[in-house]
This record gives sequence, structure tokens and C-alpha cells, in this order.
Amino acid sequence: MCGIVGFTGKQDAAPILLNGLKKLEYRGYDSAGIAVCNAGGISLAKVSGRIARLCEKTDDGKNMPGFTGIGHTRWATHGAPTDINAHPHMSCDGRFSVVHNGIIENYMELRQELSSKGYIFASETDTEVIVHLIEMYYKGDFREAVMKAASRLEGSYALGVLCADCPDRLIAVREASPLILGIGIGENFFASDVTALVSHTRNVMYLDDGEFAELSPKGISVFDCTGASVHKKISHINWSIEAAEKGGFEHFMLKEIMEQPRAVESTISPRLQQNDIHLDDSDFSPEELKSIQRIIITACGSAYYAGCAGKTAIEKLCRLPVDVILASELRYAEPQIDEHTLLIVLSQSGETADTIAAMTECKKLGAKTLAIVNVVGSTIAKLADRTLYTWAGPEIAVATTKGYTTQLAVLYIFALYAAKTMKLLSREEYLRLLDALRSLPKKIQQALDMNPLLPKLAEKYSSNHSVFYIGRNSDYAVALEAALKMKEISYIHAEAYAAGELKHGTIALIDEGQPVIALCCNNKIWEKTANNIVEVKTRGAQVLALASKGNRAVLAQADDVIFIPQIDPMFQAAVEIIPLQLLAYHAAKAKGCDIDKPKNLAKSVTVE
Ligand code: GLU
Repeated sequence: MCGIVGFTGKQDAAPILLNGLKKLEYRGYDSAGIAVCNAGGISLAKVSGRIARLCEKTDDGKNMPGFTGIGHTRWATHGAPTDINAHPHMSCDGRFSVVHNGIIENYMELRQELSSKGYIFASETDTEVIVHLIEMYYKGDFREAVMKAASRLEGSYALGVLCADCPDRLIAVREASPLILGIGIGENFFASDVTALVSHTRNVMYLDDGEFAELSPKGISVFDCTGASVHKKISHINWSIEAAEKGGFEHFMLKEIMEQPRAVESTISPRLQQNDIHLDDSDFSPEELKSIQRIIITACGSAYYAGCAGKTAIEKLCRLPVDVILASELRYAEPQIDEHTLLIVLSQSGETADTIAAMTECKKLGAKTLAIVNVVGSTIAKLADRTLYTWAGPEIAVATTKGYTTQLAVLYIFALYAAKTMKLLSREEYLRLLDALRSLPKKIQQALDMNPLLPKLAEKYSSNHSVFYIGRNSDYAVALEAALKMKEISYIHAEAYAAGELKHGTIALIDEGQPVIALCCNNKIWEKTANNIVEVKTRGAQVLALASKGNRAVLAQADDVIFIPQIDPMFQAAVEIIPLQLLAYHAAKAKGCDIDKPKNLAKSVTVE
């Protein structure tokens, strides 16, 4: 889980690598480094900490001349984030340099083997075995040495390799970690994702697992592990550069929160044509849908919570049992799955390692798979039988916002589509829900318009070392995501509880002044949660309630109330989460946290 970049062309590589790394910094940022090939061999610069330190050290790349190079921003898995453990790693003879994203699972035995042969290890990383293997296998043929080394590796890796003997060549390798090749004019690139490429080229090729690419300024050739050449399709990226930049906002997170009406609109509108719904090229026949007996939604983190919030819509509309299971659990659970199971897989990046593993397991058992991902051409998109993209555009802040709401939007679309195809809804009911779904971007905008109220509430409700979020059913599902937002960016301990569970233990934690955020938007049962508000207030809690617009009664119960624009309860979660994203954002800002890059986290979790 990190970012790697590579460049070869007719201009100095270092400034290009540093700019690329800045774009990838959200993926991992505990240390960074670059290596550049020039007449004198390979020069190397690496630092612990952020890319800014690397820019300082290299005078923005000016003190590292050379036209071919590789770069890395790290999220350490093996070895502390120190200067020495930072990538690139060098071979003992200084001929090779390697950057690596992923984990080499058999590194211990390889390290022993290489040490016994006299190779000296400088770092504690798993990565370093790769560069020594390449050195060991090198008999004058760069490509052959990299292929032989790769054949010894188990685990996940996206690699970029430099060789001092071939100063205008780069080799890239992919196995279970993302890697994209960028095709320029007289220059070529690789990177972990397109954000690092779009300012140079929009023509890209997606490397697949087990493939190698050799890049020179003149061209790129792709080959497999037997050396046979592979023909790759060129894809055109239409994300704008500005879309990948901050656009005047103080943080990417705030920009992305504010982009939600547009992101949800882009996700919904191409699929709703007049009174019809189409799933791009992924339409199901009524027979196929009717053969489904069970739906499992699997994901990690916020995508898992999107699944929890979307479950009700599918269950209610399609009258099918839906289980939402964490991918890291599902992969080892030996689940009861067969060809009558539809597995819905959610992942913003489409590269989440646990999700890929769970999906692969379920596919083996016969499940049909539907992926909901944001990144076109990502691993999950390619593995799935069908893919529905969330058209959210690039999401840079580590804490997801528009990724979550667009995933929910796709789950809603699917639920309504499947119910209609299976003829489970009256025409009237279908049209009513379709209208409600169409109004979602507008309702989200209305919720965003409350932003000016949030800084003050954030200050009040984040003053304690912990905060509780309570709610029932769909409110509880939203509470889970809201608490995660608060934890990951403000570092305040936040816990979501099903409101009815409080009395079974947690209420023991409620003391004078304890902030509690009570989600009461589910109008059918809000009074049940109102009882819980009274219980915690009796014990001294300060309560901020979220209620549907028009529910004046809640004013009598809570200390503060946020009124949420009304929409059909089926689609409520995507509106209700908005002020809670803003609450977490303002709490983190008041505390001076590094909002876009929270500590210990990374955007795309490509390790188990
Ligand atoms: N496993 C390697 C390390 O710890 C690479 C981690 C990464 O992907 O950033 O150095």
C-alpha cells in the first residue's frame, strides 16, 4: 500500500518523479525516495516523512540529473518508517534499484538464502530481497534477471526496476498490486494510479497480474512470465487535471464533501432514462435475478458501512435476504455460497486486498459477482462478472465521503432495478421511488447548505475524549460510518451503538458532559431512540440529535438538533450522513489535524 512512479524520456526524471509522488502521497506517506540513472550510475535520495522533505533534500530534484528514474512513497509493512527502510532499495553492487508496493510473503526464506550467499542487507524491509535476487540472476540481460527474480516471489507486488547498465530503460512488474503504464511522446511512465499520470498523458495501459513491461523513451513492450509478448489495449482517461486537484478548497476532504451532489448526479442520471433503469452493460434477465436466493455484500471500512446502509433497500425492495460481511472475515469464513448467491463487492479504489481475496474465494464457490467501484480498470472491476462504476471522479482524501454516497446511490439503483425487473413493485410505487431517487442530489445539496452551522457544533461535541453515536436500523447504519469519520480524521474515540443496546452495558460509560449524537431520522421508530436520549440525558450526557425536517418534538428532548431534508426513508442514509461528515471535518480542523492524510492510514489498502 503505497505509491510508485517511473519515468523515462528526454528530460530530467527527478522533478517529474517528485510531482508524481505528490499526487500519490495519499496512498502512503511515512517515507519517500527516488533513484535516477545517469552516466555515473544510479543516484539515490530517500527520507523518512513526507515528500516535501524529499523535495528539500534534492532541491526539487535539481541536484539529481538523469533521464530515467523511479520513485516511491511508503506505507511501511515490514520495518519502521526510517530513512534506511525507505525505498528505492539498491543491490550490493549498485547496479540495480527497486521500488515496491505490496508484501513479499516468502521474504524470510529468501533473505536467509541470499544472506548465506553473501548478499548484505541494509534494511529491514521485505522488499530488499527483490533487488538482491535481481543482482544474483543478472548475467548481462536486465529483463531476464527481473523475470527470474519475480518467479521466486510470493505475495503481492508492483515493482519498478532501474539498471545502471541500461540507463534509458525501466522494467515494471505487476502481481496483485495496481500498476498503470502511461504512454507519452518520446517519454513513458508507470504509476500506481492515474492521478500521477494525467498531467503528462491520458493514454494508459493497465498491466495485469503476472505481466512485465519494459519502458524506454521510444516505447513500451509488455510480456508475460514466459517472455511472450502481450498485446495491450490503450485506454483513454477523461478525468481532468483540476478534478484531481484541490480546486480552491482548504482540504481535499471538504472539496469532495461538497462535490457529492454532482458525484451522485453523475452516478444516477446516466442509468435512469425517463421511466426506465439500465445498468450500463450489466443488465440482468428476470430469470437470472429470480434464481438468486441470497445476496452477500462484502467490503472493508466505509464501503462496508455503505453496504450496511444499502442492505435495507435491497432487502425490502427485492425481498431477498442480504448479509453484509466484512471482506477480511468473509475470506476465511468458509461461507455457504453457491451459484444462487449474488456477491456485491464494494471498493472505491477497486484494489482493496481483503476484498479481492474474499471475492476470489466466493467466485470459486460459484457466486455471481457484481462490483461497485470508482476506479475504471481496477482489479476488482476486472475480476467481477459485472461492474457498476460510481462516477465520483478521483477521491484523494483518505477519509472517503463521495465514495461512500455514490456507493449507496448504486446500491439504491440496483435495488430498484432488480425489484422492477422481477415485477415486485406496482407501477405507482416504482415511479414514486424513481422520483425520490432522482431528487437525491438536490437533498444532499440542501444538507450541505447547513455547513455554516457545523463548526460551532463540532467544537461543542468534540471537546471530550470520546463521543457516542446512537440510532436504530437505518440510523444505526449511518451512525457506524459517522463514528468512523470522526475517529479517522479527528482521532477522537467515537463509537456507534444500536440505541437499544445502550442499556445492555454501554450506558455505564455515560457521565456528566458526555457527548452523544442521536440519529432519529427514521420517523417510524424515532420515538424509541428519543427514549434513549432521555436515558443518557438523565445521566448527564449532552445530546445532538439528527431528525427529519418537521419533527419539532425532538427539540424538547435534545440539547441541539440538526434537521435533515426529507426523502423516502429507503434513501435517507445518503442525506443523513452529510452533516456528520461535516461534523467530523470541522472537529478535525479545530484540532489542527492533518485531515487529508490521517496518521497511520492510507487511501488504497492493497495489503491484507
Ligand atoms: N512491504 C514494503 C515495505 O514495507 C512496501 C510497502 C508499501 O507498499 O509501501 O517497505
